[in-house]
Amino acid sequence: MPIKVLSPEVATKIAAGEVVERPASVIKELLENSLDAGATDITVEVRGGGIDYLRVADNGCGIPSGEVELAFQRYATSKLQTSSDLEAISTLGFRGEALPSIAAVSHISLLTHASSDETGTVIEMQSGRVLRLERQGAPPGTTVTVRHLFGDFPARRKFLRSIASETGRIHALATHYALAYPEIRLALVVDGITSFAHTGGSGDMREAMASVYDSEVAGAMLEIAPHGARTQDTGLAVWGIISPPSLTRANRSYIAFFVNRRWIQSRLLMYSLEQAYHGFLMERRYPLAAVNVSIAYEDVDVNVHPAKSEVRFRRENHVFSCLQEAVRRTLIGFSPVPSLPTSRSEEARLVPKGEARSFWFSQVAQGAQGSLPETLSHAPVPRETLPILRVLGQVQNTYIATEGPKGMYLIDQHAAHERVLFEKVREDIQKRPGSFQTLLEPVSVELKPHQEELVQSQRELMSRVGFEIEAFGPGTYLLRGIPNVINTANPKEAFLEVMDFLAEGGGFEEWKERFAYSIACHGAIKAGMTLSYLEMSELVRQLERSHQPHTCPHGRPTMIYLSSSHLEREFGRR
Ligand code: ADP
Ligand code: MG
Repeated sequence: MPIKVLSPEVATKIAAGEVVERPASVIKELLENSLDAGATDITVEVRGGGIDYLRVADNGCGIPSGEVELAFQRYATSKLQTSSDLEAISTLGFRGEALPSIAAVSHISLLTHASSDETGTVIEMQSGRVLRLERQGAPPGTTVTVRHLFGDFPARRKFLRSIASETGRIHALATHYALAYPEIRLALVVDGITSFAHTGGSGDMREAMASVYDSEVAGAMLEIAPHGARTQDTGLAVWGIISPPSLTRANRSYIAFFVNRRWIQSRLLMYSLEQAYHGFLMERRYPLAAVNVSIAYEDVDVNVHPAKSEVRFRRENHVFSCLQEAVRRTLIGFSPVPSLPTSRSEEARLVPKGEARSFWFSQVAQGAQGSLPETLSHAPVPRETLPILRVLGQVQNTYIATEGPKGMYLIDQHAAHERVLFEKVREDIQKRPGSFQTLLEPVSVELKPHQEELVQSQRELMSRVGFEIEAFGPGTYLLRGIPNVINTANPKEAFLEVMDFLAEGGGFEEWKERFAYSIACHGAIKAGMTLSYLEMSELVRQLERSHQPHTCPHGRPTMIYLSSSHLEREFGRR
């Protein structure tokens, strides 16, 4: 399409705004132009944080000589013509704003050579005025060089951060584009030193990640299970790579989202991803991820943000749940301990019936009987499986040593019991009313104002999990029943401890999960407690039946696996 100035009617429909905020935003616009031009080889070069000098060179389609000057006019674009084109934008650019905005605040030169032309063209501009426009030999493609950004605008320059911080932003930007376009050769050169050079080629995201991060990280990443979120009806697809729960970072800067390969910021997608990892990660740890959402152009509006870095989805909920499901399936499909086919034939031998059961034992056992819920709080997901394990004994009154068909499993008794109780309470909440034990004598408890508020606002969940409590006087309540899974001689203390856990939340946002976490936390057997063989067997059996036996509610492992081949190697038998 030739470059044309948009009609005022179309131009006013464009979410215009300041596109040139800092060097990284200039590079973003130039990179997007190169990608729109079909380039397969792009080199980004910066000096002095991009403020002194930046250059983006591509081997794309180039600009025909006769259109070069026009490209620097406001609202001049080759990417759309009518306002109906705005409804299904397939290019990264569409406003015809970037080149004129950059030219207005810098010294810019653009050297280009389109295949329709014999030779190339160069244009040089300073603060919006053309200094030079002439024919000049050039390789196919376009090279844009920007010097002295905001040179005549000291006020704008003041808003820039240090050179190191501007360079950091540029690095992050280039990294994200390398991940989004694994098939493109993309190099970043900072102050004369190659920061990364992704060779493109295979189009594999893992390979791109190896070039921009490191190969060890890239090797550990999981590919999002391909059929996880492809929904035939809407043509929405989620693909990309995510880190296993064992590979995390302290902040979210290693998470990138792309919609139709446009790098965007999205609270919706971030929340969806975090929900998918919920229960897999420890508090305040974040995964690494590069996630693409491919969606019909008309189902997403990219014309909502000046820097085009946010989008609006027509069906937000659908996008949210597709992403969450795809990620969750991938995480569950990847199990840190191997999934082996389970045969229940050994079960009878493991758990002799009718044995005396000690204090917590009976409670765990109650949870196991009856049907198991096959649905989690969100989309149904395949279950992790554990082989049948035979208990060998207790180590340091903290770990249970067990044997499976292919090796040895060392189970953390507290983490494992926490997982079992967590799922049990969640199940109880679904059942309504939950199973509870009525106290022989109701006990009175004094509540602080914030605790009272909690009791009032969570009245329904309180009774669903089994806390029967009623107001008695000012600040005083009568506790009549406690959840079945709590077995204690001191119900009042148990109640207050659960209240404390609840107030703190344990990092869980949903109240249902906060309750499950709080009760599990309080009720789980502690490390250091001696367990009988039967108690251990029963706990292991409960764990086998859990939906996510490999991790505690906070994502810490419940067990460590020592495979027989590992043992053989360690003992030099192989
Ligand atoms: P937009 O990308 O929104 O169209 P720009 O101001 O960024 O607006 O660019 C104006 C026009 O210049 C583009 O529509 C395109 O035709 C042309 N152009 C800019 N950069 C390049 C490039 N690297 N290769 C080929 N054409 C380009
Ligand atoms: Mg553009």
